[in-house]
Amino acid sequence: MREINFPDGRAVPALGLGTWFMGERAASRADEVRALRIGLDHGMRLIDTAEMYADGGAEEVVGDAVRDCRDDVFIVSKVLPHNASRNGTAAACEASLRRLGTDRIDLYLLHWPGPHPMAETVAAFEELKAAGKIGGYGVSNFDVEEMEAWERTAGVAGCQTDQVLYNLSRRGIEWDLLPWANERNMPLMAYSPLEQGRLRHEVLDEIGRQKGASAAQVALAWVLRNPGVIAIPKASDPEHVRANRAALDIELDDEDVSLLNRVFPPPDAKRALEVL
Ligand code: NAP
Repeated sequence: MREINFPDGRAVPALGLGTWFMGERAASRADEVRALRIGLDHGMRLIDTAEMYADGGAEEVVGDAVRDCRDDVFIVSKVLPHNASRNGTAAACEASLRRLGTDRIDLYLLHWPGPHPMAETVAAFEELKAAGKIGGYGVSNFDVEEMEAWERTAGVAGCQTDQVLYNLSRRGIEWDLLPWANERNMPLMAYSPLEQGRLRHEVLDEIGRQKGASAAQVALAWVLRNPGVIAIPKASDPEHVRANRAALDIELDDEDVSLLNRVFPPPDAKRALEVL
């Protein structure tokens, strides 16, 4: 499994596992745990979750999936912006730790910019880090201006990643955020790399046909070809999990990439950061 380093030196797989919409129905829980376990067994040893997902239910699913292999998994979770005050962040982290059944979250993110001063959230993150309850911290859904404000508050070393919407149909970050992060050797985490399963185009089918791959695999391979990007597709279907792992080995050549550029053009101007 190809790895990517965070600025603090920790290495994670370039391909992880998302969990949004997991933990919502008791009847699906065993299948969701199984899907995550299959992903872990295939080397996708980074799991992304959040207190928001299913009101904590997704963190419980993750807890079940990692119970006997916690030390081999890199867990990312997120605090909701309205909880991200100095005390609120600590309380939210404790609740996430309980649901995850662990004593530490490897990477803790502010889910999106919110009402509390960044300095409060950063101070809370630093305290949690000093206490060993989180391994590092970062942000999500921050555009360049917000990243610059965060950097002024937390320092250059004060952010391991920005988790943002990125896929073939959402390329705005290539204009400024991705180069900004690259300059700092800070990987971005691409969420919804499959546009939640909605990406369809005959060019994806055509490239897929040549490589014995599905359209979704081609779309994921395209995200994964960027060395500064970690992708975290969510899949509850075991076949999707296996297909996503296989996408890491699909090589897109220059011709494939220019075909894709024609249909899904890169940005030619600044676009406001898109969010889901
Ligand atoms: P996504 O990963 O782009 O798409 C998930 C959908 O695609 C599911 O319906 C899944 O179906 C389907 N799928 C997965 N693999 C497939 C394959 N190989 N072929 C065909 N369909 C496939 O969307 P997402 O869940 O929004 O994003 C991924 C993760 O990013 C989330 O789960 C979450 O952890 C994170 N996220 C973060 C934010 C944020 O604000 N920070 C926002 C959105 C998402 P099945 O489940 O049936 O397999």
